[in-house]
Amino acid sequence: MTVVVCPTCGVDVEWKPENRFRPFCSERCKNVDLGAWATERYAIPEATPPDDQEDTETL
Ligand SMILES: [Zn+2]
Repeated sequence: MTVVVCPTCGVDVEWKPENRFRPFCSERCKNVDLGAWATERYAIPEATPPDDQEDTETL
């Protein structure tokens, strides 16, 4: 029997076809992981160049 560790909460999870949330232990842990991914993506700052248009105008 193969046992993996749930990436979200760290409990042992039996790797079997019945467990459709593997490698997670539950649907909740799977959703938490997906949420973390989305949050991480959101946290990446957009590469916006500094707006120096006004500075050029004042010179
Ligand atoms: Zn878990």
